[in-house]
Amino acid sequence: MIENIVRSYIKDIEVYKSARDEFTGKAEIYLDANENYTDFTGEGKNRYPDPHSTALREKIEEVLGFRKENTIITNGSDELIDLLIRLFCEPGRDSILIERPTYGEYKVFAGINNVNVIDVPLTDDLDLDTEEIIQTIKDKKPKIVFICSPNNPTARSYDISKIREIADANENITVIDEAYADFDPSFVSSYTLLKENDRVVTLRTFSKYWALASSRLGLGIASEDVIYYLNKIKAPYNVSLSAQRDGIRALEEKGEREAVLKDLIRERGRLSAELEKFSFVKRVYKSDANFILIKTDDADSLYSYLTQRGIIVRNRSREILLSGALRITVGSKKENDALLEALNEKEKSFVSR
Ligand SMILES: *Cc1c(COP(=O)(O)O)cnc(C)c1O
Repeated sequence: MIENIVRSYIKDIEVYKSARDEFTGKAEIYLDANENYTDFTGEGKNRYPDPHSTALREKIEEVLGFRKENTIITNGSDELIDLLIRLFCEPGRDSILIERPTYGEYKVFAGINNVNVIDVPLTDDLDLDTEEIIQTIKDKKPKIVFICSPNNPTARSYDISKIREIADANENITVIDEAYADFDPSFVSSYTLLKENDRVVTLRTFSKYWALASSRLGLGIASEDVIYYLNKIKAPYNVSLSAQRDGIRALEEKGEREAVLKDLIRERGRLSAELEKFSFVKRVYKSDANFILIKTDDADSLYSYLTQRGIIVRNRSREILLSGALRITVGSKKENDALLEALNEKEKSFVSR
């Protein structure tokens, strides 16, 4: 029962009813929310937005197939990570489990909430260490197990059967962050596990594939009970009208995104193959995402060399298992060419030395 996993005092908190919650129909005259009656923008921005992003969730059901009753829209999926920790973990007592290396925000939000972080390293080939994770779940009983697939910064998707095994062994909540799922054509979403396991929560975002990082649109997919509690604790108007409209428009323009994906996957392959050729690149990891992880003989010097050329990549070399690692986002063909040209020059000076 989800109710038994929720932070105890949240169960008793009464839901804040906003004006748009109390009256949900259509009316001629709204005098209930102390808004300004002047619409300076001509787009209705003087009015509070729909607290539940209903039209966007309906569009998501239509286009992506995630049932409306099982979804929530947030201010980026980062808000969802925070909400989930606040919903399930008692400060000063509970813990979350993460694998390392992974996305940094799980740890940050746990820290802000005074929630302990247990980490289990990935295997040497950057896969889930299922056995160790399940043993740790049994020993330490974390309230939430976070799994990021495809993982940031390793760019690797995990096998759905491994994720299922972990989620089944976990009596508490398993959150699968699928921010990069759209870049892996063979990806099987953890959403498919929800039918058999109501403690599975899937996170998606409009920031990457949908090219709306600035709009701040996160998508949570979970059981109706989890959605009920998340709605209870989120800020009433957490997603702006413009953001809700941006999301709907993006879904309507689905075909354009698919065209970009084709180019991106081609560029990802080309960039990976080209990167292999440099003598200072030790390894190029297979990518299921829109970025590539490489290991180099000296990440710091390569990073600063590229920065001087006006090309910014991410230095991940201080993470466990990632010495010498840089994370490179796949850019446009022109941007990737510029990167390769800079690396070619580096190679020449390297060889002539
Ligand atoms: C980029 C990213 C997100 C997206 O965060 P938003 O708040 O939706 O922009 C979530 N998880 C991971 C692993 C990411 O890399």
